[in-house]
Formats: sequence, structure tokens, C-alpha cells
Amino acid sequence: MRWLGLLVIAMLCGPAVADPAAATPVVAIDAALALLSPETKTTCTDVECLIDAAYAADPKAKQLALALFRATGNVAGVGPPELMDGGYRGKIKLVPELPMGAHRKHLVWVSEAMTEIDTWFTDLYAKQTLTPSYRWRALELRFVRSVGKRTPSAYAFGWTIEYNVAGSLLTSATGVRETLFHELFHNNDFAHGDWSAATLQTDFDAIVARCGTKVRCLTPFAPNSTMVRATGTYYAFQPNNGNGVHEYAAELAVRYYKEQAEMLRAKRLARPAFKCGPPENARAWKALVDEFFGGRDLVPTC
Ligand SMILES: [Zn+2]
Repeated sequence: MRWLGLLVIAMLCGPAVADPAAATPVVAIDAALALLSPETKTTCTDVECLIDAAYAADPKAKQLALALFRATGNVAGVGPPELMDGGYRGKIKLVPELPMGAHRKHLVWVSEAMTEIDTWFTDLYAKQTLTPSYRWRALELRFVRSVGKRTPSAYAFGWTIEYNVAGSLLTSATGVRETLFHELFHNNDFAHGDWSAATLQTDFDAIVARCGTKVRCLTPFAPNSTMVRATGTYYAFQPNNGNGVHEYAAELAVRYYKEQAEMLRAKRLARPAFKCGPPENARAWKALVDEFFGGRDLVPTC
């Protein structure tokens, strides 16, 4: 499952939020070293040299990692071995797993997803004076594998997204794209001073107080369809998962991504717009659009 670690709390002070007019963010060489050469000494002094060496055993994966870096500044490497406290998931052992060989497909999906997200931003703001207050490039992508479990699928802190090649949500291009957009929101949420807790907590708490984990009660408020298998409720409202408002907000961002993509593609939505549901939805939607997306909303008024 998607997972926001408590670590995030300690990572509020990331680099400045990028907008297209600001300086282009980059992954620093020290961070790239930790991603691509954590165990071994290297003579490399640039990221492409590090990618070249780390992916030497799989030329196809190497080309993918290089292309991803050149196109988006994202650096795909590994996370450290870790015994994680996964909240409702229990303890989880994570080990480094570079996405090559049998795991190369994950690098294919991630590359496609990051390219697609890049194109989505370009299309959404084409010929606009509005700009998003959002960063989606130059991320540190840490690939790991969970041992004996299939969660979490991913988690985020700073400008890092950790990706679990055994993650239960990461079995298709669509699952990977939505999960990455969800995680990307966590990165940006904390770069905006934990915006979701400051802005959405009151409404979120009231919904949870009213509905608990009851699906029928929660459905009108659920921004996205992701469910937790173990409890049968929406991921956005799953208890014992850090401050749940972070997950609600990340799922809201995924809904924004999906509705804008559908408007760009089809000029209309096939199902009712999220903002046209209960008043809580309209408030959360407007707040999100104004804070992160420069007020840009292609969905017609209700
Ligand atoms: Zn999350």
C-alpha cells in the first residue's frame, strides 16, 4: 500500500518548491552517490557515470535510467536496508533492489509514468499565465523490495520516493502512475509546510467521526478508489496510518490528476466531478487547486 512514513514529519524543510519559472531543481551528487553507489567506492563525479556503473549488468535498464535522468532529472537507484514500522501493516523488512533484470519492468513503468506526468503538466498549463506551485522533476527514486510482504507499495519524504518492486499496487502501468502521483503529492505537501494538515484536518476529522471505516458512508467523500485489503475500507480513510489527512489529500491530488487528464483527453467527465459532491469535497478541491495548481481547473462548475 501507499505509505507515508512518520519520517516525513522530520523532513518539512525540503528544497524550495519549484515552479517552471524558478531555477531547475537537480539531484545533488551526494544524493546520487547514496542512490547508485551506496556500498562501493567509485571514481565517478557525475550522475551519468554513476548510472553507467550501477546498471552495468543490464544494458537495457541502463538506457532507461539514463533516458529518465536526461528527460526529467529523476535519478533511479536503491534505498538502504531497513526494518520499517508500517503502522497497521506491522514491521516490514526492506532491502535494496535496483530495477534491472527481472525487475526492469518497474523502471519501464516508472519512466513512462514520469514522462506522462511531465506531459500532463505541459498540456495543462499550455498557453496559460497560471503556473503550478509544484515540483515533479529531479526526484530521488529509491528502489527496494519488501521481504515476505507486499506493502507498502511506496512512501515519500523530502524529494525522495521509495518504490517497492514487490508492492501490491505496482503491477501495471496505471497502478504505478497513480501511486507515483500520490507520492509526489506527499513530497509537495510537506514542501508546503504540511499544507494538508493545516487546511483539511477539520473536515477530514469530521468525516471520520461520522463514518469511521464504513464504506457506504465514506463513499461520497472518497477522492479515489484505492482500498485496503485487510480492512476493506478506503485508503484515504484507513486508521493507524500516520495522520490520515495526508493520505486523504494525496488521494485528492490523484483525483485532480485523473479529472484534468480526462478533461484534456475527452473534454468531459464520464462520472460526476469530485467537487460536485458534498460541500466538504468542494472546499477541499478548491483549496488544493488554489494552493498547488495555480487555480487551474478544467472541470466545469457544478
Ligand atoms: Zn500516501
